[in-house]
Amino acid sequence: MKAAVLYAKRDLRVEERPQPSPTGTQVLIRVRAVGVCGSDVHYYTEMRIGDQLITKPQAVGHEFAGEVAAVGSKVEHFKVGDRICVEPGLSCGKCRQCREGRPNCCPNVIFYGTPPVEGSLQEFVLADQEQCTLLPAGMSFAEAAMLEPLQVGVHAFNLVPCVPGDWVAIVGAGSIGLSCLAMVRAAGATRIIVTDKLDYRLALAKKLGATHTVNVEREDALAAVKKLTDGQGADVVYEATNSVKGLPQAVALARIAGRVAAIGIPPVDEIPLPASFPRRKQLTVQFIRRSAHSIRQALELVATGKIDVKPWITHRFPLARVKEAFDLVDAYGDGVLKAVIEM
Ligand SMILES: [Zn+2]
Ligand SMILES: [Zn+2]
Repeated sequence: MKAAVLYAKRDLRVEERPQPSPTGTQVLIRVRAVGVCGSDVHYYTEMRIGDQLITKPQAVGHEFAGEVAAVGSKVEHFKVGDRICVEPGLSCGKCRQCREGRPNCCPNVIFYGTPPVEGSLQEFVLADQEQCTLLPAGMSFAEAAMLEPLQVGVHAFNLVPCVPGDWVAIVGAGSIGLSCLAMVRAAGATRIIVTDKLDYRLALAKKLGATHTVNVEREDALAAVKKLTDGQGADVVYEATNSVKGLPQAVALARIAGRVAAIGIPPVDEIPLPASFPRRKQLTVQFIRRSAHSIRQALELVATGKIDVKPWITHRFPLARVKEAFDLVDAYGDGVLKAVIEM
């Protein structure tokens, strides 16, 4: 089988590997679609996220869906040919975090594409049956691959919800920002201000329900949000950029006693955050790690038409052109929001 293997910064090669076979409760998945995530691109350009380093060649990728190709002897709920989406994290189920309902914070979690765990940019991968969920008949594999970024927004919303009538700011209009947009829109937020530096992403956010958009390269986002919120600031702010400026910006946009969800992953590990005004405003800042038990919720929202993820998918590539896809996403080329590798 073929796999896309990251050797060094920007050195991503498609090569042959032996196909794995499932044992016990494992399912062998014929991967059909993989979304290219901002975090995958961090590994591609830096070989690291914070202290997680890629030190030997490995496949990246974790947003995926496919078909069951074989099952281990103890698999109960799936059969060959089933179409499934996959929760990328497999937690231990035994530690305190797991027992208290935070499998995403499990120190023993195994997560596709996070070193040293192999990622899903391979023709076949193994998953435990508990990571798999059946897809409804009408849902494409590419759409199903979007459930992973969507569930990050679902999880952020579950931890930092808004209520009908809230005024919300979303910093960053990538797929995570758009997943937050979908959630707050479904929840009845009445003013939804999305900021980004790319006009084409702001245009998409507008199409998907943002009431206002602000280009941070041309406008003072703080002044703009103040103006749009009667001088107060947003009740709830979701930070979903890959920039060191994202969180300081999000904190600035929140009203007094507002709430901030910090979701984005900056390229370096230190964020310059002012000390005084977040304190004076008595802000609540909730950091968000991945997602927890949210894929079923994401699946239901898409399957019932409450959220449409199809407009996120702007580009499709075969596995042979995976490097092109990563370069495109890294450069924000050709109006890209989400590139999907289809196999
Ligand atoms: Zn992702
Ligand atoms: Zn655990």
